[in-house]
Amino acid sequence: MLAIPDEHFIDLQFVICNSVLFICSSRANSGKIHVMDSDLLAQREAIEKNESLVLAPYACHAATSKGREYTEKPDAQRTAFQRDRDRVIHCRAYRRLRGKTQVFVAHHGDHYRNRMTHTMEVAQLARDIARNLRLNEDLAETISLVHDLGHTPFGHAGEEAMNELLHRHGGYFEHNLQSRRIVEKLETKSPDFPGLNLSWEIRDGLIKHRNLNYETKTDQPNGSLEAQLVDMSDQIAYQNHDIDDGLRGGIVHLDELGKLDLWQEACRMTPHFLPEKLWVSAVISSLIKIMIRDLFDESIRRLETLTPRSVNDIRNAPLPMIAYTPDMEQKNFALRHFLYSKFYHQAEIIGQTDLGKSTIKKIFFSLFDHPEQLPENFRTMLEAGEKKEIVIKDFIAGMTDNFALDFVKSIR
Ligand code: MG
Repeated sequence: MLAIPDEHFIDLQFVICNSVLFICSSRANSGKIHVMDSDLLAQREAIEKNESLVLAPYACHAATSKGREYTEKPDAQRTAFQRDRDRVIHCRAYRRLRGKTQVFVAHHGDHYRNRMTHTMEVAQLARDIARNLRLNEDLAETISLVHDLGHTPFGHAGEEAMNELLHRHGGYFEHNLQSRRIVEKLETKSPDFPGLNLSWEIRDGLIKHRNLNYETKTDQPNGSLEAQLVDMSDQIAYQNHDIDDGLRGGIVHLDELGKLDLWQEACRMTPHFLPEKLWVSAVISSLIKIMIRDLFDESIRRLETLTPRSVNDIRNAPLPMIAYTPDMEQKNFALRHFLYSKFYHQAEIIGQTDLGKSTIKKIFFSLFDHPEQLPENFRTMLEAGEKKEIVIKDFIAGMTDNFALDFVKSIR
């Protein structure tokens, strides 16, 4: 073991070089650098040990995960959360994200976001924030990768149509619950269990605790900090890329954005002499930095006030710990309002959404009258006693936009 003074380190990192794992810890425990030969420990155990040195005590540590529904032997190389991430990346529902609309129809233009590129942007933000807050990057990344799996084709229009259809059968559609259903039941990767058999912390991260707690005033505990920060990363990602896509598509205009406090603040941080396209990218980049900085500072302030010592302290805290300052909340509310009123409901977008809604409804009604048109695996679910509307919902929710547009032409 090698002792290096604290001031030599700005932050925490670990590097594997020539089979030796170098672990640098500036804040955890002694503040010394620990060097250990990776041959001495299995790789997973070495990473878990590193987590215990590097991560905050209130972060989710892979070694103390609540585990999987179906017991599996731990992987020799990867922690539980790293294994979960790999399972998600290799599953079919994840690949289908590239064919699903975020806001613009997925095939409308090469540079517009789809659910997969959105998901990657969320994961990038979540990992960065997690690292800086000494939270579990792997867990934050994995929750990000699964957070939108349950979305229907055609974006929010698809979700509205599906909700309307299920209401007629006494149910409703909620994409977070559908994401959970995909990873717990619908994906099949192993003969040993249904779904992906992900760790409890990933599945729990798919429940929108924040909405449950602070909007419906239930007494359900908070989500982990990793889950909380994915929620916020999701919001930062979609607000900024919707501005970017909206400007590109001519739905949003610079003079309208110029009336927003947050946009003005981002403009002040950005050099003025750039050509317009570069300038817009730079302002959006500044906007993301402003949001992350505020989120980081307020989250640190709340953590320092609450002084949590465990994940349970976070779960039982009276407030979410990953949050904006009240000032930023207010400015962000204005931006959200702008995006909803000037963007999501613009005629061009609504034109696209009508097509999505009618496609989903036609498919649903046709399959309900003629369920023999369902693929074999879904017919098997029907035979096993699953309700018809649920099976049809599962099939349609999994479709990409193009698959739905092709499928609707082939049905009775
Ligand atoms: Mg999202």
